[in-house]
Amino acid sequence: MNKIDRKLARRSYRTKQSIGARMSEYLTYIWRPVTGGRHAFPIAAKKTPPGETVTAFCGAETDAAQLHDRSEVDWIREETCMRCWRILAARMSRHHPRM
Ligand SMILES: [Zn+2]
Repeated sequence: MNKIDRKLARRSYRTKQSIGARMSEYLTYIWRPVTGGRHAFPIAAKKTPPGETVTAFCGAETDAAQLHDRSEVDWIREETCMRCWRILAARMSRHHPRM
């Protein structure tokens, strides 16, 4: 662990301490390049077994299997879903006015 990593680890620890559990739900999402774009999904989607449907923040639905086994090529090929992006940005600015 280098100096910067330690600094970041300390900072994120403090952030969690001061803001508390309420904050964590707003940081628990993942971006995944699934059919039709790179969407943001709640982190729980990662644990959803293949065959079940997961829903992105914008409402797009996909098989949970789509969240796994994605290559770098998929990331380059798919465009970021702007609806997901805006929804997350709005959540962020509500909780971090300066970001
Ligand atoms: Zn989306």
